[in-house]
Amino acid sequence: VKATVAFIGLGNMGLPMATRLISGGHSVVGFDLSEEAQEKLAEAGGLPVATARDAVPAAQIVILMLPNSAIVETVLLRDGVADKVQEGAVVVDMSSSEPLATRELANVLRERHAVDLVDAPVSGGVKGAVNGTLTIMAGGREDALAKVTAALAVLGRVTRVGDVGAGHALKALNNLLSATHLLATSEAMLAGQLFGLDPQLMLSVLNSSSGRSGSTENKWPNFILPQTYDSGFGLRLMVKDMKIATGLCQQLGLPSPLGEGSVRLWEEAAEHLPATADHTEIARWLSDKS
Ligand code: NAD
Repeated sequence: VKATVAFIGLGNMGLPMATRLISGGHSVVGFDLSEEAQEKLAEAGGLPVATARDAVPAAQIVILMLPNSAIVETVLLRDGVADKVQEGAVVVDMSSSEPLATRELANVLRERHAVDLVDAPVSGGVKGAVNGTLTIMAGGREDALAKVTAALAVLGRVTRVGDVGAGHALKALNNLLSATHLLATSEAMLAGQLFGLDPQLMLSVLNSSSGRSGSTENKWPNFILPQTYDSGFGLRLMVKDMKIATGLCQQLGLPSPLGEGSVRLWEEAAEHLPATADHTEIARWLSDKS
């Protein structure tokens, strides 16, 4: 069954995701603060509207792909989107938001607006968004998730990982791992090159050895060695995700010395790099710092 989807947040990830939904036969009504993003939605066959509120009245599914929890809350509660959601529609926060904030937001939406919230953050980057190969980590009530699974399946593989907030918790932990792998890989690549090893050769051997990760398989060969640094995932967004994960550890009373150390280095990099830096520029920063 084809749905009308409201899509709010048409950035690096949101625009290609909305485009896939359109290609999959869904009607997409979208909003972004950026005029350029609005124009691109129209080019892709979607309908841009003047405010976030205007996007939702006809939608069975309301997808948010925004920078963080604070903005998700503002859009839903202060900008009045939640007031306009039709009965029985489901709100899906696909942003990488804070799990505990998501739980509270879900309660507010249920009690004040009779609306279900599903969290469904993603991994797989801009490439995964373009190709519909994202890993989608969903949290929320099974009946609510069931209403949106067919549409989400156009974007990637959906796994329900628990109740509302569970997807956001897993996503933050994934990114803490991913960021820490990237930092560790960058240190090792730097040391190897200083010793005289060829970086291409290093990667090809590491990729059939136990030190491999998404950083050796994807980030180093595709964005760092070619010096393009154009993964489409901002360094500041990565730092946000890492802090969500270490914050969660603190809330759970669990020490995370490795994660904390990794966050400190990434924050230092964020201070020194331009606001628009790609997260893969951590490798360049580390090399310059050394
Ligand atoms: P982005 O900065 O490219 O896009 C965010 C968009 O939200 C922008 O177009 C911005 O104009 C819009 N926006 C901000 N405030 C708004 C508001 N109040 N109303 C309407 N639009 C508003 O970010 P992105 O890379 O697309 O990431 C979006 C989310 O997905 C983040 O939570 C990020 O951590 C997560 N994520 C990103 C990637 C990636 O590879 N880029 C991968 C997985 C998850």
